[in-house]
Amino acid sequence: MKNCVFLLLITLVACKSSQVLTEHNFPSPVDTQDRPILLQEKRLYAIDGIQLSNQFDGARANDFTKINDSTYRVSILPENEPINESPHYAFWINAPEGATIDLEIYTGDYKHRYWPKMSISDSPYEPMDSISFDTLKAGNIATLRDLALGREQLFIAAQELRPSSYTKNWIANLTKAHPHIKTATVGHSKLGKDIDYLDLGEGLPDDKPAILIFSRTHPPEISGYMAMERFVEEILEDNPLANAFRKKFRVLAYPLINPDGVDLGHWRHNAGGIDLNRDWGKFRQEEPRVVATHVLQETKAHNNEVLLGIDFHSTQEDVIYTHTTNRVSKIFPFKDLWLQALSDQGYGPNEEAYDLSSPMTKGWFYLEFGAEAIIYEVGDETDRSYLKEKAAFAAREMMKLLVLRPNQ
Ligand SMILES: [Zn+2]
Repeated sequence: MKNCVFLLLITLVACKSSQVLTEHNFPSPVDTQDRPILLQEKRLYAIDGIQLSNQFDGARANDFTKINDSTYRVSILPENEPINESPHYAFWINAPEGATIDLEIYTGDYKHRYWPKMSISDSPYEPMDSISFDTLKAGNIATLRDLALGREQLFIAAQELRPSSYTKNWIANLTKAHPHIKTATVGHSKLGKDIDYLDLGEGLPDDKPAILIFSRTHPPEISGYMAMERFVEEILEDNPLANAFRKKFRVLAYPLINPDGVDLGHWRHNAGGIDLNRDWGKFRQEEPRVVATHVLQETKAHNNEVLLGIDFHSTQEDVIYTHTTNRVSKIFPFKDLWLQALSDQGYGPNEEAYDLSSPMTKGWFYLEFGAEAIIYEVGDETDRSYLKEKAAFAAREMMKLLVLRPNQ
């Protein structure tokens, strides 16, 4: 009898995560079984006294070659194909004896998406100026003209470098400044990296409505990540609105959903070679499974009704993806009022609505919870100060609308 009870307990523990997770059928299913990825060779290249390295988290450089006396080329490859056209690159280059070169960033068949940024001696990344950045040749070579190299490592990257350690630090600093925040590692990626969450709410979590904040499914989408950080920070401000909001709501934030892809310097996918924002129907990949399971366990354990999910991404320009009007969320007309407020402030509207399609978070928020689902996209090159002001405004308007919502 004792053995039976023990076995039953083991079975219950083993089934715990699969029990809460419900699969959903989407109109356009996607095969999200593992696919092989190409791991870049991590090394220090050296040609004519010029050194180039990809030996750091988030780096991507697949080869470094000499084209002619003054021109060198760094080649960039995706982790696998087919893939969204988002060539990510990040490396440092230097020449201890000094050199001025033309440097080609070569992306094969893929068009460039990101304007190069540079940082030296840990200075903040800045877009390279138009004088040193030549126009794209043949759609797939960006030439950095007359690049002056010296002893110091010049970091050149598609977007500001934000490896998983950066997000860990951000979480640590937030929890130090706001000790009420609950944070935990809720599971691990395919390669065993932590997937962390924060609950920004104050007081006992039971019976409160909840909102979800997701970010960084797609590794190079840094402008969206920056907006997420500012959005979260606004919710943590010490003012009457934010204080009231944190007491009334649970806010479950998952700031880094794809830590493997981020640290491997991927263009889009996780270590299973899959676009994770196509796996919210069948949950074949670890990362969506870990996050969805945690959301469901937490909200069931504390009887929280999920009202709203916001997933931060980046694309060519600022845009808010929503559902078409046939999908009426439980907080209708929140979305229309919120977008109107953004528009009135000169931040929009730039709404694009579409119905359920492939298994994305937007569909999952709606199908699982009947929640309002927002994909908050920030332009790749949107001014960083502007995107933070806009994210702070968006957070304030969200809090206003939800705090004032009747029946709360
Ligand atoms: Zn994205």
